[in-house]
Amino acid sequence: MSLTSRSSATSLQDGALFEGVIEEKVISPRGSVSIKRYSKGRFLGKGGFARVYELQDLESKKNYAAKVIPKSTLTKSRTRQKLMSEIKIHKSLKHPNIVGFEHFFEDHENVYILLEICINQTLNELLRRRKRLTELESMVYMVQTLSAVEYLHNHRVIHRDLKLGNMFLNEKLEIKLGDFGLASKLEYEGQKRKTVCGTPNYIAPEILESREGHSYEVDIWSFGVILYTLLIGKPPFETNDVKTTYKKIRKCSYSFPENVQISSQAKDLIEKILQADPESRLSIQDMYKHAFFNMGFEIPKFLPPSTLAIPPSES
Ligand code: ADP
Repeated sequence: MSLTSRSSATSLQDGALFEGVIEEKVISPRGSVSIKRYSKGRFLGKGGFARVYELQDLESKKNYAAKVIPKSTLTKSRTRQKLMSEIKIHKSLKHPNIVGFEHFFEDHENVYILLEICINQTLNELLRRRKRLTELESMVYMVQTLSAVEYLHNHRVIHRDLKLGNMFLNEKLEIKLGDFGLASKLEYEGQKRKTVCGTPNYIAPEILESREGHSYEVDIWSFGVILYTLLIGKPPFETNDVKTTYKKIRKCSYSFPENVQISSQAKDLIEKILQADPESRLSIQDMYKHAFFNMGFEIPKFLPPSTLAIPPSES
């Protein structure tokens, strides 16, 4: 894969202030040229080096989220390589709980990545509004996340940055796991990764120790951190400074606050995931079988839109 241009887009200043219509030059396998046009909509958010806008394909009327990355930020070959790796990995994935990758193109100024649009933001914003989620909601979101992570691991991909801010919600409030900027594809089973990466609150202890490298279990750890955060309302190892947080993670030192009621099943699942030794953590298959996901009723596929602002009713 290369990031050389098969397409062109008009007058995009710095990826920030572009107006109106974006044109993508499409060259067919036979060499004929056609133009695909998109109208630019709302600004959706800003990431490490991308700004994300809503884009509408003027022909099909389909809406996308477009990650716009100014080429001025891609001068270092390391940064270019990282972007290429993100595209290559994300492009290869297709799963109902993973943000769909449409395609990408570039012009002189920017690289554009067209993604499935998730109109209900991420679990980060949801939790900020709601403070914490009910066990039923957590089950619904976590079982979908588990399915996405299982798919990734079956395809030898480690996400390495699982966190609330990378768990998008579509119009039906389905989880769509996104942002493959730190993901890694293993070349063979048993291979270990050594790069220190992740987000402080969610990072696994073996990444911090980093002597023997890390593997799939780092995603399992983050899964446990996410479940705790949804139920309790704040991450288990959160402190005011990163060093102290890392110390707590290394020692696996966290507790359940007494003022928040959670079931013994939820506690047990979290405890069996947040194990300093990666080998001791539950496997994905064991998680599916765990009592938290098997409380004697079927976990609903969808939650009502009202839960974006208020808890679901008990009935
Ligand atoms: P980066 O990889 O540069 O960190 P992100 O993937 O985190 O960028 O995206 C930055 C922001 O853009 C997100 O926090 C979110 O607000 C918005 N965004 C990203 N992808 C989508 C999407 N598929 N649908 C809707 N909004 C999105």
